[in-house]
Amino acid sequence: MKLNYYNICGMAVCAVLIFSTLVRRIHKGKLGKIYFMMLLSVFFSAAFDVVAVSLDNATHELIPLKYFINSGYLFFHNLTGAMYSVYIIAITDSMHLVRKRRFLKTSYWLPLSVVSVLLLVNLFNGCLFTFDENGIYKRGEMFLVLYISTAFYIFSGVYYLFKYKKTIAFDRWIALMLVVPASVFSALLQLIFPELIIEMFVNAISIMFVSTIIQRPEEFLDVETGARNETALISDTKRMFITGKPVDMILIKIINYQNMLDYISSEDVSAIMKKIVSFLYEKSESVKMKSTDIYFHKRGMICIISEAEYHDRIAGYLDAVMEYLRNPIVVSEVSLNCDVSVCSVRCPEDIDSFESMNLFINNFIDKGSSADELYEASDIINNRNYSIQLNIETIINRAIAENRFKVYYQPIYSVSEKRFVCAEALIRLYDDEYSYVSPELFIPAAEKNGSIHKIGKYVLEEVCRFISSEQFRTLGISFIDVNLSAVQCMNSNLTGEIQEILARYGVPPESIVLEITETAASYEHNIMDENIKLLTDAGFNFSLDDFGTGYSNMSRIADLPFKIGKLDKIFTRTGENKKLDLVTESSVHMMKAMNMKIVVEGVETREMLDRFTDLGCDYIQGYYFSRPIPEDEFVKFILENQMVS
Ligand code: C2E
Ligand code: MG
Ligand code: MG
Repeated sequence: MKLNYYNICGMAVCAVLIFSTLVRRIHKGKLGKIYFMMLLSVFFSAAFDVVAVSLDNATHELIPLKYFINSGYLFFHNLTGAMYSVYIIAITDSMHLVRKRRFLKTSYWLPLSVVSVLLLVNLFNGCLFTFDENGIYKRGEMFLVLYISTAFYIFSGVYYLFKYKKTIAFDRWIALMLVVPASVFSALLQLIFPELIIEMFVNAISIMFVSTIIQRPEEFLDVETGARNETALISDTKRMFITGKPVDMILIKIINYQNMLDYISSEDVSAIMKKIVSFLYEKSESVKMKSTDIYFHKRGMICIISEAEYHDRIAGYLDAVMEYLRNPIVVSEVSLNCDVSVCSVRCPEDIDSFESMNLFINNFIDKGSSADELYEASDIINNRNYSIQLNIETIINRAIAENRFKVYYQPIYSVSEKRFVCAEALIRLYDDEYSYVSPELFIPAAEKNGSIHKIGKYVLEEVCRFISSEQFRTLGISFIDVNLSAVQCMNSNLTGEIQEILARYGVPPESIVLEITETAASYEHNIMDENIKLLTDAGFNFSLDDFGTGYSNMSRIADLPFKIGKLDKIFTRTGENKKLDLVTESSVHMMKAMNMKIVVEGVETREMLDRFTDLGCDYIQGYYFSRPIPEDEFVKFILENQMVS
């Protein structure tokens, strides 16, 4: 008597999974379809096995029916193995590699085809299984072929799983891998104890594992627009480059996306994006660009990825998309035009690595800003800054290892004292390959990789060494401004580190003014607040850098102990724009009302100098007096110009 309970449970588990897959509508899309077929295959093999075992237990007759049921069971059992390997090929995005190798492409379904033919032939010659005169099931001499076919599929799945391990997250990889020992173990168990019919149950549990750990497309979906989300864009592009899948990408930046969010409800903005995404999907289907994926990036960008074999359809598709976007889109009685800039990229021809792609997308989001414009990928790629950003980690590491950083000083002029009273320390980097690399490029990268702490310490040490030198005392410079980045301010050891450096050089805290940008200062961050408090108590002064460029929470800024405010250089563009002039004047009034001394940055001409002097600003910094210069030139400059009026 064979135990049928496990089989029934396995069937029930599959039925629940089928139901939930249909309700969650996750049986769509390439991967969804393959998963669903694999699930159906397990379900049918379990169902056929339930009937087969029941018949075996109940009667020794009904042989034709038994033939049919057992054939069905064996077919679906083999199909499950095949679907498992196809699922792995799809999830590792290596389908294009299988297709590329003609031998693999044609022979892939061979084992399953042989099994299907043998199952038919079996009805006549019993080569796979038969029933003896007592109606008892007996294996035929070619039964081994069934094992060979299943083994072929399982091992090819495992092969791709190992080969493209990097394309999937570890938990998913383990879930897919576990299927193998589980099914081998259950098959062995069933071989040793033929009455213990457990294989289908184990298969059902395995697919439940896959369902809960892997088949969660909601994770990759932007629920508001119905497109795939940023997480999906990252993981899909990463996988694409690992397996070398050739694709066409179209990036559409909605230039006025932020404006829309400012002026209409976020529901309406989402509805507009949803309409665009639906159009893009429908159009890709109508021009037969199969398995095109659409992604929505929260910074207002839509990305379309299509397989390279449809390349010749891209131009027509793009025309239709641009035409559609030129017309207003209507939602809940709001009619809006989207200003877009569009860029099309071929991978791997234009971009051949995930890092470049990531950088490219970010650059495009920042750069692509002329409405109705079509960018060439090469516009961005051939840009020098792009290439620097791509290699910035190497550049920073090289600079640290080879001591390449230098500190320059830019003198700051006091209007009342009519002389230079302080200076700002600005870091400089000359790289052998890229020559001058702007701090605006490497500081953000150094913040990301953590080297900013090392760089910050280096700048402060250099400044302290300079201040403690004999020569410095002869210059009449009261203090040096040192820039602190947001990331440095969030380091709980910052206060101790700064004090330790000053103590080492015997420099008093009044000789240093710490500059924090307005954007950094407006972050609500406990450690930053604690650092500012501790450093102020220890005698340091703070200055608010780039005033007027952040969209700050003014009440927070007013609470912080800034002695000096540095009016950003955008305000020096006087006379160009009357409104900007008004903003400049009120910014100056505001800083005065907050009891701050005012430094104006970026003063390049005599007119600018006069204007800000008339406005009552206290200090002037800019090319009009001097660019940032190396220490020895700075000393020379101050000694020669200290009596400038
Ligand atoms: P920042 O602190 O606002 O520095 C002023 C920037 O304006 C400097 O750019 C300076 O060279 C430039 N500048 C000065 N006068 C003029 C002028 O008349 N016209 C124009 N067009 N520009 C002028 P730089 O040196 O490229 O630095 C850019 C930014 O990088 C700095 O802005 C600062 O935020 C950051 N940075 C520079 N050195 C350091 C550093 O040691 N540590 C940190 N954390 N950030 C730094
Ligand atoms: Mg500064
Ligand atoms: Mg500044």
